[in-house]
Amino acid sequence: MTAFKALGLEEHLLKAIADMGFETPSEIQAKAIPILLERETDMVSLAQTGTGKTAAFGFPMLQKIDLKSRTTQGLILSPTRELCLQITNEMIAYGKYMPGLNVTAIYGGASITDQARQIKKGSQIIVATPGRMKDMIGRGLVDISKIEYCVLDEADEMLNMGFYEDITEILSHSPKEKSTWLFSATMPKEVSTIAKKFMRTPVEITVGTKNVGSDQVSHEYYLVNARDRYSALKRLADANPEIFSVIFCRTKRDTQKVAEQLIEDGYNAAALHGDLSQSQRDTVMKSFRARQIQMLVATDVAARGIDVDDITHVINYQLPDETEIYTHRSGRTGRAGKTGISMVIVSKSEVRKIHTIEKMIQKKFIAKEIPSGMEICEVQMFHLANNIKDTAINPEINSYLPNINEVLADFSKEELIQKVFSVEFTRFLNYYKNSKDLNISGGGERNFSEEDNKDSTRYFLNIGSKDDFDWMSLKDFLRDLLQLGKDDVYKVDVKDSFSFFNTDTTHQEVVMGIFQDFKLEGRQINIEISKDTGRSKGRSGGGGRDRDRGKRRGDRNDRGDRGDRGDRGDRGGDRGERKGSFKKRSGASSSSDKPAFKGKSRRSSERPETKGTGGRRRRKD
Ligand code: ADP
Ligand code: MG
Repeated sequence: MTAFKALGLEEHLLKAIADMGFETPSEIQAKAIPILLERETDMVSLAQTGTGKTAAFGFPMLQKIDLKSRTTQGLILSPTRELCLQITNEMIAYGKYMPGLNVTAIYGGASITDQARQIKKGSQIIVATPGRMKDMIGRGLVDISKIEYCVLDEADEMLNMGFYEDITEILSHSPKEKSTWLFSATMPKEVSTIAKKFMRTPVEITVGTKNVGSDQVSHEYYLVNARDRYSALKRLADANPEIFSVIFCRTKRDTQKVAEQLIEDGYNAAALHGDLSQSQRDTVMKSFRARQIQMLVATDVAARGIDVDDITHVINYQLPDETEIYTHRSGRTGRAGKTGISMVIVSKSEVRKIHTIEKMIQKKFIAKEIPSGMEICEVQMFHLANNIKDTAINPEINSYLPNINEVLADFSKEELIQKVFSVEFTRFLNYYKNSKDLNISGGGERNFSEEDNKDSTRYFLNIGSKDDFDWMSLKDFLRDLLQLGKDDVYKVDVKDSFSFFNTDTTHQEVVMGIFQDFKLEGRQINIEISKDTGRSKGRSGGGGRDRDRGKRRGDRNDRGDRGDRGDRGDRGGDRGERKGSFKKRSGASSSSDKPAFKGKSRRSSERPETKGTGGRRRRKD
């Protein structure tokens, strides 16, 4: 904030800037604002999209206009109706502590009389598209003969769209004595021509390279089975410990679902969609800007308002219905001169969409593989090692050092490292130990349902809720007993006096071995392999018995049946087929700051224990 103050901005603007959540001026702002505040000068500014050009001209213009006067003093021309509205809204937000400020948007496709009426009330600033502006000047509905500041925003775009004549016409109605500020992402010949024509010795500012924003983004796609979408997402996050991302889903429901699941799995995630109230959305965005949220799961509509730079990854959890939307999504990263990655998780049926998008963005996608569990562990270990290396030593520790030394006296440096990493990573390693390859090869048809049946075994067990088990406690019990990883026991369904669960077929021998002669509190426990894999739900076919069972299972998954479990769904969902129902809540209100103690809480046992890794939750220690 002091950095904004140093640019010479007044208190009311600083207050509005603070409200907007801006912390430091962008480069273009730092360069342009002081000059525009101090001098009456023309200016040509070249900067990529997303570098904050609106504020670069907006702040100075707001500070310089006379609020007491109702005369139109500033005109901002922009190429499209969307930009026009966006700039208008930004100007209104910047000027929220300027009583009497009137900013009016003038654009085609809306009532000209309404716009004229607004102008009549006295607008100090008009934001307009060239076509409608020319029209209104011609009809005598707008007077720009007294403007002092004129902005040509996205000048290259305006010229591309053929507005040269209109701009010339409009400016001929403006006074000679005024400051013209031209902003553009690129500087084609035409732009220098209008710069020469309409400006006198403009100050020139260039930020970054002159190429367009999209060159900063690389595009990748990952081909997985549709049911592995969620697991793939988690791996992508885990393989990028410093991820700061927006994840796009197609519907509000999916957005909420994915966000909640991520939160449950221990990630710093939140949902952003239209069902949230404005204040909930503000809270989410505030946490996101503050990096308390590393994975923002959003719908396309809600994401339009996302104005955060430094986003490292955009992840298309699902591709949008319309290919154009893809450009909006990927444009959320690679802003402000930074590079970014736009990832797409696709199932086989969607691959052709990738080619359509390639044609549209005129760039090739890189086909990438979802990292294996072991690759992820390696990345995370390395990340931790670097974190340790870069951690400043807290002097408070010193007073405990003698005692700690005493405890650890017998270990070499090597052993200590092994131990430190074991503390952090045993759970992580266990989690990924037997993880499967999520990638599917490019060619050949496959029958996924059959595949599902092959690699999973469903068991029947003669204990149930009568024995004080619920699905969660049974899952924990089985995991401990079988010495399997977090994900290796899934689809746990507990009935009155019996239960079902699944493991991958590779564990079948172990499972059967352990239960061969197993007693629980003196009672013999029987296990049987069930013919139903537990994955056939919703699939057609199968005998009557199967169908019956499917129905019963469906009933059991009803919300009402799970009321007491709150938001803890069956985390068999990691297999991409989560069954629990989701409770609506704002992701930002998650328990992300709650310290979790290893092994003490069930929640913490549901995820690999990590600290400061990936989108995973950082705990305050
Ligand atoms: P451009 O016109 O260069 O494409 P915008 O002016 O539209 O960029 O700004 C891009 C986004 O960055 C906007 O949503 C804006 O609110 C935001 N923004 C602008 N300046 C800052 C800043 N100093 N800090 C954080 N965000 C900013
Ligand atoms: Mg702009």
